[in-house]
This record gives sequence, structure tokens and C-alpha cells, in this order.
Amino acid sequence: MVSAVFNNSTIAELVQAESFTETLHNVMKYQPQLNIMEQYWASWYSYMNNDVLATGLMFFLLHEITYFARCLPWFIIDQIPYFRRWKIQPTKIPSTKEQLYCLKSVLLSHFLVEAIPIWTFHPMCEKLGISVEVPFPHWKTMCFEIALFFVLEDMWHYWAHRLFHYGFFYKYIHKQHHRYAAPFGLSAEYAHPVETMSLGFGTVGMPILYVLYTGNLHLFTLCIWVVLRLFQAVDSHSGYDFPWSLNKFLPFWAGAEHHDLHHHYFIGNYASSFRWWDYCLDTEAGPEAKLAREEKMKLKANKNAKKRV
Ligand SMILES: [Zn+2]
Ligand SMILES: [Zn+2]
Repeated sequence: MVSAVFNNSTIAELVQAESFTETLHNVMKYQPQLNIMEQYWASWYSYMNNDVLATGLMFFLLHEITYFARCLPWFIIDQIPYFRRWKIQPTKIPSTKEQLYCLKSVLLSHFLVEAIPIWTFHPMCEKLGISVEVPFPHWKTMCFEIALFFVLEDMWHYWAHRLFHYGFFYKYIHKQHHRYAAPFGLSAEYAHPVETMSLGFGTVGMPILYVLYTGNLHLFTLCIWVVLRLFQAVDSHSGYDFPWSLNKFLPFWAGAEHHDLHHHYFIGNYASSFRWWDYCLDTEAGPEAKLAREEKMKLKANKNAKKRV
């Protein structure tokens, strides 16, 4: 079996070697026009010589490494009192015991719930026409697709999350994620398996719908998207709002300040990455938003009363 990473089987056979380093060396020798990232990518697929395993293992490692590597700085920051000045709920510092409990549960869910779709991912990619070939698409194409995925995922997240706050769904599914009224990085993926799968549809399903429509998507674009989405999810649960946080530069970016309020008040701020859905549909969380809402309702009532006179 030859990997689909090269569309030329002669090159594919030429670069194959016993070790990864040797494969990489061959790829660099015979494919010097590729950039360094493409060379590593091609070497990985050529060395593995089994695309199902190569994609599955890569996605699993990508998820584990990105998630825990992004959570670690937040865990350290929680131990340093200097950073409390930027903590959104400064009196609620998660204990190490709480964080370890969360870590155990997240790890268990990763291995049990998320491992299966990851191993069946490559056959699905092949069916859908998601490419693993080198070279990668143009960076402008990748940026456009990732930006679109952010917008679509946010839309999906808003509605699915809002639904999860209704009686039955909340009681039996979403309540688990709300165990922490003051969230911390690791708690981002602390959720019921049904929630993980339904909200996860926004991350994986939207690119699938995109490739079904356009017939064109590269797996590398998907990798970058998943990494950025994991950063967004962990950061929005971090509990810290810094003067240099992204929402200070992009006012429509939700960030930790937005999602922390959701955990604090259990209601409102349902979107994941952006503020526009909650703003436009009047579902913003917190006492200030509630006051503004009441003020708006009063104005409307007065207007209607005047109309009647
Ligand atoms: Zn919620
Ligand atoms: Zn949350």
C-alpha cells in the first residue's frame, strides 16, 4: 500500500525508508520545492505507510498535545497570586484536587468517547474528498476556510448550547459542564459525552458540510482549525481577562470574560467565539446586560402606552 500523500507513485516509492529520519531526508532530497511543514507532513505519511493509522494517530496526538499543553499555563497561573488581579472571579481559585479530578475525567472521556471517531476519521475523509496530498493549498484559501469555520461553529454552538439550557437537556446532559461556576482551562472539555458529540459537531461537522458543498478541503487546514478551536475553548474557560486578551483588540471576540459570565450566572452568553449572536438576540449574561434589557423593555412599554393615548 502506498500513501496518497504524493499523487505520483514513483516519488512515493522513492522516498520510502525504514526510519522517519531517513524518510525525511529522502523527501528533502527529492522534493526540495516543498516547504518544511509539507516535507514533515509527507514524511509522516510516507513513513507510516498506512494512511488510516497516520491520520488517526496524528489527530489523536494533535488533540491531546494541544489541549493539555494549552491548559498547563493556566494551571500554573492559578498557582501564582500575582495574576489574581486579572481573575474574573478572584475569590474562586480552583483547588489542585478539583483540577486533578477534572483532568482524570477529561482523559477518560478522550480515550473512551473521542478515540473512536478519531480512528474512523481517515476513511471518512477519503469518502468526502478531504485531501492529504502535498503541496498544501494556498495560505489565503486556508485563512478564508478557517475564518468561515469559526463563524459557522459559533452559530452552531449558540443554538445547540441554548437548547442545552432547557429543562431536560440541562438536567441530564449539560449540568455536568456547569459543575464549575468559576471555570478553569481544563474544564473546557469536562462535559457529558452527548454534549461533547453534539457541540463537537460544530467543529467537525461544519468542515464536512463545507467539503460536501465545495468538494475541496485539505486535512492540514482541518488540523490548523482544530488547534485554533482548542485554543479558543481552553482560553474561554481560563477565568482570566488580561489587558492584552484578544477581546481587547477585537471587540466582537468573546473570550474568557464572555464565557465566565455564562458559568457564573448559568444563563445567557451561549456563543463560543463571537459576541454577535448574544448581542443581536438579547441573550447577554450578567447584571449589566439584564439592566440594559429591562431598560429597553421599559422604553418599549412607554412607547406603546403613548401610542395608545
Ligand atoms: Zn451552558
Ligand atoms: Zn463552558
